[in-house]
Amino acid sequence: MHEMSIIMSMMEIVKYHMMENRVTHLKKLKIRVGKLTAVEPQSLMFCFEVYTHGTSMEGAFLEIEDVPLLSKCKNCKDEFYREEFFSHCPVCNSDFIENISGHELDVVSMEAE
Ligand SMILES: [Zn+2]
Repeated sequence: MHEMSIIMSMMEIVKYHMMENRVTHLKKLKIRVGKLTAVEPQSLMFCFEVYTHGTSMEGAFLEIEDVPLLSKCKNCKDEFYREEFFSHCPVCNSDFIENISGHELDVVSMEAE
């Protein structure tokens, strides 16, 4: 499962920070998931629960922040959010578009004691 490997690599980061700060009980974890990653938040939640089950992190709250797909037209400089992957600018119809956000998949913050 794709989501499980994402959780596993994120938890490596979390565990590293917990070790550095000498804390063992994870209370809350906040992550960012970009629209372009095609990751299902529900699956992430599930994998997080499976992963933390029976560990000192069990019961920690996972907060998932959805990062919308923000694109910018290089022709008219217009910035727009998109639900789907369009290849043309809605303003000038140019196809010279770059994606500013949507690829995010990171740990934003965590609370532990
Ligand atoms: Zn444009």
